Amino acid sequence: MRVLIVEDELRMAALLKRGLEEDGYAVDVVGTGTDAVWQANEFSYDAVVLDVMLPGLDGVGVCRRLREAGRWMPVLMLTARDAVEDRVRGLDAGADDYLTKPFSFAELSARIRALIRRGAVERPSELHAADLRLDPATRQAWRGQVELELSTKEFALLELFLRHRGQVLTRTRILEHVWDFAYDGVSNVVDQYVLYLRRKIDRPFGLEQLETVRGAGYRLRAEPATVGSR
Ligand code: CA
Repeated sequence: MRVLIVEDELRMAALLKRGLEEDGYAVDVVGTGTDAVWQANEFSYDAVVLDVMLPGLDGVGVCRRLREAGRWMPVLMLTARDAVEDRVRGLDAGADDYLTKPFSFAELSARIRALIRRGAVERPSELHAADLRLDPATRQAWRGQVELELSTKEFALLELFLRHRGQVLTRTRILEHVWDFAYDGVSNVVDQYVLYLRRKIDRPFGLEQLETVRGAGYRLRAEPATVGSR
């Protein structure tokens, strides 16, 4: 069993390393978020102990990147006392559990054991609408047997539509979910990306599944229409 410790405070990192080694784990330590992402993508870990407070990319960002890269090993996050917001952000980013500093090593040891016993979190299930499929875990999407080459934003947009299959989504809602911010006033960024997405998921197949709902927004139909049939 191999554990990665991500902690920039040297004394704390050394303490954790020694304790976990005494528990019988192989232990690696890194001190920055960027190193953590690299290390966890490069090697296989059974668990990650991740401090939230790191220089540069913080623990929440590390966790999000690992999940986005399809890394589902258990993550135990270390947060400062009273940092409720960090805990919420951490869990939102895909952390499995958290411990508030200061903690006893015995407690950390027990939590790690429990997480490793439970194994990697369940992969999120595939999303689909007719023969359009998307796997959030591997970040792949297909129309029938054809794998779609999507940019990060196109992928996020398709995921949003698939999670709300058959529902009309307004431009504002799409902006907030895919771009993480609300544009002031008028922007056609959503319309542009819907166009890009259609060129990849619909047009090459002679289909029309992502439709414009005039005056309201866009909707991914449960079943595609064949172009010219409507
Ligand atoms: Ca720290």
